[in-house]
Amino acid sequence: MRVAIVGGGVVGITTALKLKREWRNSDISIYAENYEDLVSFVAAGIFRVGNSFLGPNEEITRNWVSDSYEFYDEIRKSREAALAGVVQISGYIFSNEGPAAVKNHWMESLVPHYRSVTEEELKLPGGHWKYGSYFTTIMIQCKSYIPWAKNQLEAMSTKFYQRKLYNINELIDEYDVIINCSGLGARELCGDRRMIPIRGQVLKVKAPWLKTFFYGDLDTYIIPGVDGSCTLGGSRNFDSTRASPCPHETRAIHDRCTALVPSLKNAHLIESLVGLRPHRDGGVRVEVEKISNGRRSATVVHNYGHGGYGVCTAPGTASYAIKLAQNAHLNNSKL
Ligand SMILES: Cc1cc2nc3c(=O)[nH]c(=O)nc-3n(C[C@H](O)[C@H](O)[C@H](O)COP(=O)(O)OP(=O)(O)OC[C@H]3O[C@@H](n4cnc5c(N)ncnc54)[C@H](O)[C@@H]3O)c2cc1C
Repeated sequence: MRVAIVGGGVVGITTALKLKREWRNSDISIYAENYEDLVSFVAAGIFRVGNSFLGPNEEITRNWVSDSYEFYDEIRKSREAALAGVVQISGYIFSNEGPAAVKNHWMESLVPHYRSVTEEELKLPGGHWKYGSYFTTIMIQCKSYIPWAKNQLEAMSTKFYQRKLYNINELIDEYDVIINCSGLGARELCGDRRMIPIRGQVLKVKAPWLKTFFYGDLDTYIIPGVDGSCTLGGSRNFDSTRASPCPHETRAIHDRCTALVPSLKNAHLIESLVGLRPHRDGGVRVEVEKISNGRRSATVVHNYGHGGYGVCTAPGTASYAIKLAQNAHLNNSKL
């Protein structure tokens, strides 16, 4: 089976890794315009699937989320954890807006601990919170995870090509199955106008003393990394493609985060980064399409549009995409 994967971000690379584990004899090639300047590298990489995350229905989405958690948890428990940058982390989510802001219907039944905070904890940093939860989850640092996964793929003879595709049909002659993990690129590649960038800005600071994550109101978050760095966020600008950091946002993020955790005043700023979340109006697209160029036909499985949750949900949508590809390919062989 010759398979092409379009996309070298966390979704494409994780799909390739799962595919290689499930179809050992498959011959996989990855095509990406870019392997370095990825939105995946901007993400803090915390496994916290937001309440708004959406697949085709509740049951499938829940399976994506739990498959993903299991996948990363297995890496976390393995000897590869440090190399892959996958660790366990605990922290707080605080709000003054309402109790719903600190609840999460995907996470509560999944992670080892998810509890309401005590009265004492409500007085913790930033102080005077009305609502709060404490939970334990996983952190996936893409700067380690993606290179680790690529090494594994290379060792299993996966081929990597740097090339921009203008039409998926360009791959029909050489591949039986094409899995499209092009993220925001799908807007142009597939003409999918439901793809909308949600711009996000973060600050990466050095704060090795911080081991706990914090979320507050106004999209404020503080997420320690595995290497002594810490991601401070954030912002959400709908349909914005501005690639450079905005100095006003930098200041606002810094002020909100230091109000939440005052010790961050001493943190050294490494860089301000901007990423465009590949949001899809109507939810993530994981579905099959048959394409043909007159001479040959191929199965395309789309797997894109993960918005602000692509790191944590990539393994689950990858498994689902692989199942769809397998069924479509079997049906083709019977014809
Ligand atoms: C500030 C911020 C914080 C975030 N924090 C988190 C977090 O804590 N947890 C979490 O789970 N998610 C988080 N996210 C979201 C996460 O970063 C994305 O959902 C995820 O990285 C999307 O991965 P991807 O592989 O789809 O896209 P990308 O990383 O953008 O990769 C897309 C790939 O497709 C290739 N491509 C596109 N078009 C073409 C084409 N025509 N031809 C060839 N190649 C093409 C690109 O070159 C690239 O290799 C955050 C995002 C931002 C901006």
